[in-house]
Amino acid sequence: MPKTHELVWSDWRSQLKHRIHTLEDLRQWISVSPDEEAAIEQSARKYRWSITPYYASLMDKNDPTCPIRQQAVPHSGEFQTFANADPDPVGDTYYRKTNRVVHKYPDRIILLITEACAVYCRHCTRKFHTTDLEGSYFETSEAASWEADFEYIASHPEIRDVLLTGGDPLTYGDEKLELIISRLRQIPHVEIIRIGSRYPVLLPQRITPEFCAMLEKYHPVWLNTHFNHPKEITPEAAEACDRLLRHGIPVQNQTVLLKGINDDLETMKTLLKELLKIRVRPYYLYHCDNVTGVSHFMTSVETGRQIMRGLLGHMTGFAVPQYIVTTKLGKIPLWEEQYHADEDGYWLENYKGETMRFSDAP
Ligand SMILES: *Cc1c(COP(=O)(O)O)cnc(C)c1O
Ligand code: SF4
Repeated sequence: MPKTHELVWSDWRSQLKHRIHTLEDLRQWISVSPDEEAAIEQSARKYRWSITPYYASLMDKNDPTCPIRQQAVPHSGEFQTFANADPDPVGDTYYRKTNRVVHKYPDRIILLITEACAVYCRHCTRKFHTTDLEGSYFETSEAASWEADFEYIASHPEIRDVLLTGGDPLTYGDEKLELIISRLRQIPHVEIIRIGSRYPVLLPQRITPEFCAMLEKYHPVWLNTHFNHPKEITPEAAEACDRLLRHGIPVQNQTVLLKGINDDLETMKTLLKELLKIRVRPYYLYHCDNVTGVSHFMTSVETGRQIMRGLLGHMTGFAVPQYIVTTKLGKIPLWEEQYHADEDGYWLENYKGETMRFSDAP
């Protein structure tokens, strides 16, 4: 273990304080490849990078293709130019109504509460907002007043679902999060509060009993997290999810389909089975968006559909996520159509490719 004598492993603030963000620090954990070293050098002018000691401890010391390393250590692909890459292919900035509110769907919004994260995932969809040294979706600043944001929600009675995201909301301490959540709870039409956070994966020590007890006061609260590879399902991560679940907070998972990390059936099946074992329900499998600095992680839709064909019917029904691409028009399912029409009516196809005729409502 590297020189971390002041680091208190179980203390999330101490972990944040001792994050790895220099080449010198990183060398204490892994043998840095020439590509990684060059990318780290280039990142100094372009992209943040920062790795918690906990997440670094999961990295393979000698293998640059390690799925943890690829998600956390800068790579030359981030600086290549790809056709049609866009800093905001999903249109967050287009649908932004106030500094923090993105209102894209009829009944729900996302509240971008911060730009900060525990680890700056190299494949982040909001890479411009979180990781780009020059970028932000905030009109003014992260510290700007919240009044316009709360006012927007309060004056739109159709908003029944508020999803806190960012960046990673759990980067804030419990006190600040409680101020935000309790304020949302004063708005009668906000029925559910959701939190999108990768802390269970990147720094599970953040999920303290005190944090869970705070959230529990504001039910119904749901949490979506982001496991991409079975290696991430450690005893600490399992414990963090268990703690949330025991406080009545359902935990669901959103995976991004990433080339060379999880874009093969066996890895995906293992990930989904391991999630069920820790009682985390798979929710979405996102096709990787063509985000500037992320394109090198993209894999083909056909690969994604083949994986889906290997899951549907072969695994517990709720182990199978919805395969989705997020676009400016919203989230769009990409999986196989099993219901077909022809001139004689309808036919169905099962996971083995067997077909049958089907009568619609008479
Ligand atoms: C993904 C997303 C949501 C939540 O969508 P669900 O399908 O309900 O999980 C809400 N707002 C925006 C802008 C989103 O991108
Ligand atoms: S934790 Fe989430 S928001 Fe932050 S860099 Fe990773 S994927 Fe992006």
